Amino acid sequence: MTRVTEVTIGTRYHRLVATHAVTNQVPPLEDYDVLGTDPALVEAVARWGERADVDGLHALGLTAGSATTQRWADDADRNPPRLRTHRPTGERADDVDYHPAYHSLLRTAVANGLTAEPWTRPPGSRAHVRRAVGFVIWSQVEAGHGCPVSMTYAATPALRHDPDLAALWVPRLASREYEPELRPVGDKDGALCGMGMTEKQGGSDVRATTTRAEPAADGPVPGAAYRLTGHKWFCSAPMSDGFLMLAQTPGGLTCFVVPRVLDDGTRNPFALQRLKDKLGNRSNASSEVELDGSWGSRLGEEGRGVRTIIDMVAATRLDCVLGSAATMRAAVTRAVHHARHRSAFGTVLVDQPLMRVVLADLAVESEAATLLGMRLALAVDDQESAFLRLAVAAAKFWVCKRTAPMVAEALECLGGNGYVEENGLPRLYREAPLNSIWEGAGNVNALDVLRAVSREPLAVEGLDKELSQARGLDRRLDAAMDRTLAAVRAAASAEPVEAQLGARRLVQDVAVTLQAALLAQHSPSVVAETFVQSRLGDQDGRVFGTVPIGADAAGAIVERAFAG
Ligand SMILES: Cc1cc2nc3c(=O)[nH]c(=O)nc-3n(C[C@H](O)[C@H](O)[C@H](O)COP(=O)(O)OP(=O)(O)OC[C@H]3O[C@@H](n4cnc5c(N)ncnc54)[C@H](O)[C@@H]3O)c2cc1C
Repeated sequence: MTRVTEVTIGTRYHRLVATHAVTNQVPPLEDYDVLGTDPALVEAVARWGERADVDGLHALGLTAGSATTQRWADDADRNPPRLRTHRPTGERADDVDYHPAYHSLLRTAVANGLTAEPWTRPPGSRAHVRRAVGFVIWSQVEAGHGCPVSMTYAATPALRHDPDLAALWVPRLASREYEPELRPVGDKDGALCGMGMTEKQGGSDVRATTTRAEPAADGPVPGAAYRLTGHKWFCSAPMSDGFLMLAQTPGGLTCFVVPRVLDDGTRNPFALQRLKDKLGNRSNASSEVELDGSWGSRLGEEGRGVRTIIDMVAATRLDCVLGSAATMRAAVTRAVHHARHRSAFGTVLVDQPLMRVVLADLAVESEAATLLGMRLALAVDDQESAFLRLAVAAAKFWVCKRTAPMVAEALECLGGNGYVEENGLPRLYREAPLNSIWEGAGNVNALDVLRAVSREPLAVEGLDKELSQARGLDRRLDAAMDRTLAAVRAAASAEPVEAQLGARRLVQDVAVTLQAALLAQHSPSVVAETFVQSRLGDQDGRVFGTVPIGADAAGAIVERAFAG
């Protein structure tokens, strides 16, 4: 029987006819512990983290999974930042206004020590592991505000090239206080940092930088003062307190700390020309900046700019891996949740054999990404620089590249609902390609791996040592490790053209072999077996869901994937 409801709204009478009841729709995925429902991450914390950090991380996981936080994410994404170039009176303002939800997200990230705090903890304290877990948890909420979080985390190793500048900046970048107002950094308890490398004529090739820096006798910035003139084509989070920037000096390409506010309280010239209209990452402002005699403090020696800023780049590359692992995790969680609640053809989707194998394949990919990212964070804590040199670039190449196809498949698991904004997958889909572009696009990272292979024997030794931990666990894995290490050593002495032509294959094999070695050591055998059999053998198809496994094994993997 048709149900009729009679209501009066204002002075109008309405007769509402309900033609149907809503069934077989999936309850919203909210009010859950993002950490507690992720067994691979829980195990990583138990294995590589500190017990004392566990409760705080679960609290962050609950906040991340709450309906309130998800609302912040939606609001921040749907209400992008707005540029105010001028004041009503005509003077330049160069301010960006953010939706309050963006500030709530960033404040929570800072308050949970996701910026530079680990660098201020004693070596061995597992502070980078704790922060990496927190970053993976919190990035699942919304990725755009993660950009200033990452850059603020990453600036410290570069700032340490100058002890005085480090003394001024690092405690503030490491603070848990969020102070978005622009003031002289010395007057603040908490600060954020960005970076300005990319220019119109060159991003990967920073030698093409045209911004010039002239030494100035004295100025309203600490240390060796210079004035910078030029432009930056991508400068994200422009309301940060300072930026590490490259500019040409008489001695060559040099790194600078460029503050937004000078020591005397006046604004540094920093003309925001426009904000980029981006595919995704919409809550984050990415600006074009004109520098016109802008003050900067030299960081490191003249001519050593790349050497200085590369320490920041290495740390942001780690965050690209962690951020992509988070995006994958958020996608797989939503896919599994949906499949557990939605029925088709009389059976809940998760029990349809073909859907199960798709979900299992996605879950294995996600676990491999999480494990590799966490292992790299542990290596930062343990100062394993030889291992990190090659492994971060390889992981950045592979994990970030896998994210886009992986999210697309997860989106399809939700059918038409996956394509609708309110279900969260479109935001993840738009975000998915970004980490692969940032901080060296795929080819640039592949070339960096080649550089490490051919010039830094210790980096190859570091890889060999890491892989050796998994020797004897699986004969196919042993064979893959032999093949990969032989290919790495062959690339070291190959002709440059030949080496480049094979670079993507080589880097893919390094990353996948590393992932397999980690899964073999630390994950349930059904997960490791599925990964090894499909990714290391010749049984991998060209789409997700082609892994050769039985229904029970697939079911066990999906069961583990989301303990919700
Ligand atoms: C949303 C967003 C925010 C950003 N924020 C910032 C920021 O805050 N600060 C900042 O400095 N930059 C920022 N960037 C810029 C980003 O880091 C660069 O876009 C990136 O490093 C690539 O540089 P490019 O765009 O100049 O591309 P190019 O250097 O022109 O590269 C184009 C393509 O060529 C490939 N390529 C380059 N060299 C070679 C080679 N030798 N062999 C083979 N292939 C090659 C690359 O892999 C890439 O695929 C941002 C970008 C985006 C999209």
